[in-house]
Amino acid sequence: MDVACILSVKGREVVVTQPHRTVAEAAGLLASKGIGAVVVCGADGEVIGILSERDIVRALAQGGAAALDEPVSRHMTGKVVTAMPASTVRHLMETMTAHRFRHMPVVENGRLTGLVSIGDVVKWHVEEIETEHKALREYIAHT
Ligand code: AMP
Repeated sequence: MDVACILSVKGREVVVTQPHRTVAEAAGLLASKGIGAVVVCGADGEVIGILSERDIVRALAQGGAAALDEPVSRHMTGKVVTAMPASTVRHLMETMTAHRFRHMPVVENGRLTGLVSIGDVVKWHVEEIETEHKALREYIAHT
């Protein structure tokens, strides 16, 4: 199972923001879209960061309510680990576990083309296991 397969069902829309937007605006996006992270894009649409709910919690814990008026660029993670459409679900699970994050933007030819979360990965992994179990049960029933 690869990332392209997940995106073909989930869709390729990604909620993005810009580095000069405020943390409050980003938090509003997360709340209104019901998501856990926004990808931060530069003027040409290139990925320059990611801001997740954890970054916002950290910003608030350190700076109090004043952090809400600060720019996204101050609190985002700038070194983003991305996936490719051909990346496997196993690779994503291993990468997310190793780095302890739950979101991976998908980039193809330098362009943002989707986002996969840990929820998407677990859903597909469970489906893979169920398909495997079903095949095994059928094999056992017919031998
Ligand atoms: P998350 O678990 O996705 O809420 O993110 C936990 C931390 O990892 C936050 O500081 C995020 O900015 C950062 N982060 C999330 N996804 C990525 C990613 N794909 N590459 C690099 N950092 C990330």
